[in-house]
Amino acid sequence: MEIQGLNSWGGHYKRPLIMAGPCSAESFEQLRDTTQAISNLGINTIRAGVWKPRTRPNQFEGVGLSALKWIRDIKAEFNVVFAVEVANPHHVEESLYHGVDILWIGARSTVNPFTVQEIANSLRGMDIPVFVKNPINPDLSLWIGAIERLHQAGLTKIGAIHRGFSSYQKTRFRNVPQWRIPLDLKKNLTEIPLICDPSHIAGDRTMILELSQKAADLDFDGLMIETHRAPDDAWSDAKQQITPDRLGEILNQIKFRNPTSKNKEFISHLEELREEIDQLDQELYEVISNRMKLVDQIGFFKRDNNVTIFQKNRWKEISESRHDWATKLGLDPEFMDELFKMIHENSIRRQTLIMNQETEKTKDVS
Ligand code: PEP
Ligand code: MN
Repeated sequence: MEIQGLNSWGGHYKRPLIMAGPCSAESFEQLRDTTQAISNLGINTIRAGVWKPRTRPNQFEGVGLSALKWIRDIKAEFNVVFAVEVANPHHVEESLYHGVDILWIGARSTVNPFTVQEIANSLRGMDIPVFVKNPINPDLSLWIGAIERLHQAGLTKIGAIHRGFSSYQKTRFRNVPQWRIPLDLKKNLTEIPLICDPSHIAGDRTMILELSQKAADLDFDGLMIETHRAPDDAWSDAKQQITPDRLGEILNQIKFRNPTSKNKEFISHLEELREEIDQLDQELYEVISNRMKLVDQIGFFKRDNNVTIFQKNRWKEISESRHDWATKLGLDPEFMDELFKMIHENSIRRQTLIMNQETEKTKDVS
């Protein structure tokens, strides 16, 4: 798949790409004031929900077409670009007609291949950036599938947005972030710009900084942050929206690090350290291999002496001693307990295979 990296999307798009703006466009004044304050921070990519997918009916579902007219006017006044969520070909058509610059597919649409295909078909032959939010359920293939549908329609400026995954259990997040999934997506599609939406992950404005820093540390290419001139009065997602002032503070505090450096000394020192790590990893694997050989020997010994694989007292003793070693060596004991449990389980599996092998003696009897 040929997806363009952010640096070839055109001069406007730079890493980190910050998209900020209200959950929903509510009125001309609300959208204009919010845009003005955000653009005063030097941010020129504005998000605004025009049609809102609400979980239950009879709630505010976005102002629709009139918001697109406000967007058209506000864009011209502040020289910014606008991103809007689309969920069907009608949304696409109206957004393009009104000069929207970026589209995104929401989490509830990404789950449905019919919807994504219809949107992709309506975009055939267009050259507009489209972001695909992760599906509400943690399914990497479904997320990649949506991106493939857009790509097959000829789009190449495609981005991905991690907005967390829905769960029935109450957690401290509105949508639980499962960072491995977006990172695996990036492993599959190396060029794809990957954005984090801390607002829908958190559901609560107090967590936006922490989540944004986490995304920056994981080498995300940007952030989409819900920002409103008066968050508490917002018509949707009030608790998670922040003021433009707070957005400015957060962006000043986040440390965006570089994924790499061109400095020669840095590169050569990093290479030395990596060689050492490779060496140590190899030794670690050799030690594990030697351990497993011993485990096998013990397995044969137990089998031939008709002794069980698992002895309760021995397990208690070794798990306690390993736990103490971890603490003394400055390792996280919980992590080492987990690791050791896995090694021990694998040892038991190996010995079980040995136990089940026919011995010379049992063969004679049968
Ligand atoms: C949104 O961005 O306003 C939105 C509805 O998000 P999501 O699709 O992630 O729920
Ligand atoms: Mn929202």
